[in-house]
Amino acid sequence: MKIQFVGCGDAFGSGGRANTCFHVTGENVNFLIDCGASSLPALKRLGVACDDIDLVLITHFHGDHFAGLPFLLLDAQFSRRTRPLTIAGPRGIEARLAQVMEALFEKSSKTRQRFELAVVALEPGSDWTFGALRITPHSVVHGDSGGPFLAYRIEIDGCVIAYSADTEWTDTLVPLAREADLFIAEAYFYDKIVRNHLSLKTLEAHLQEIAPKRLILTHMSDDMLARLDGLTYTGASDGMVVEL
Ligand SMILES: [Zn+2]
Ligand SMILES: [Zn+2]
Repeated sequence: MKIQFVGCGDAFGSGGRANTCFHVTGENVNFLIDCGASSLPALKRLGVACDDIDLVLITHFHGDHFAGLPFLLLDAQFSRRTRPLTIAGPRGIEARLAQVMEALFEKSSKTRQRFELAVVALEPGSDWTFGALRITPHSVVHGDSGGPFLAYRIEIDGCVIAYSADTEWTDTLVPLAREADLFIAEAYFYDKIVRNHLSLKTLEAHLQEIAPKRLILTHMSDDMLARLDGLTYTGASDGMVVEL
């Protein structure tokens, strides 16, 4: 299995990085985790065949994680996609998707797709199975607009990928990522504590308990990016590929 960081940036283009979008492929899986506004050009720059993607898993409705969907769907329509596509995310996703489609491309939410499009709302604590994937959504803490906010623990043929999404520290992150083969964690700041986001120092204090087999930091601010070289942690970069 392979994960490519298509985009690992924040909402402000820190470090010139594209908005959040991870592409996971394996024998039986081909899906995206998040689809921020800049995701379609980023996917194309990396030569990803978008029509082969079966699922887009959305963590929350902020533009840097969600607003790439209208572009992805329009491109699928015009490239004459036939393969079914599923979009899954927090409660309310159907209405949110229609809103963002209308805001960016008027009338596009009413277009009848040439391919089968399923939109699925996920609930924290309720496992969801999609083909070879077993997905456990966990509720995380990221403010009072743009939610509900979900982090995902994803199991594929016994291999576990956990993604914190955007969140301040919450104890949920322990079961979310415990002993995961790969934990992709937000590290927005190095040591500054802010609401709604996670700093590396806070995460570090819990790492022994979480015990991920591998940790990759993402969604870093300029402050965090400037310190990365001096640290022993691995930071994601756009285009980076991780084999699991
Ligand atoms: Zn974000
Ligand atoms: Zn966010």
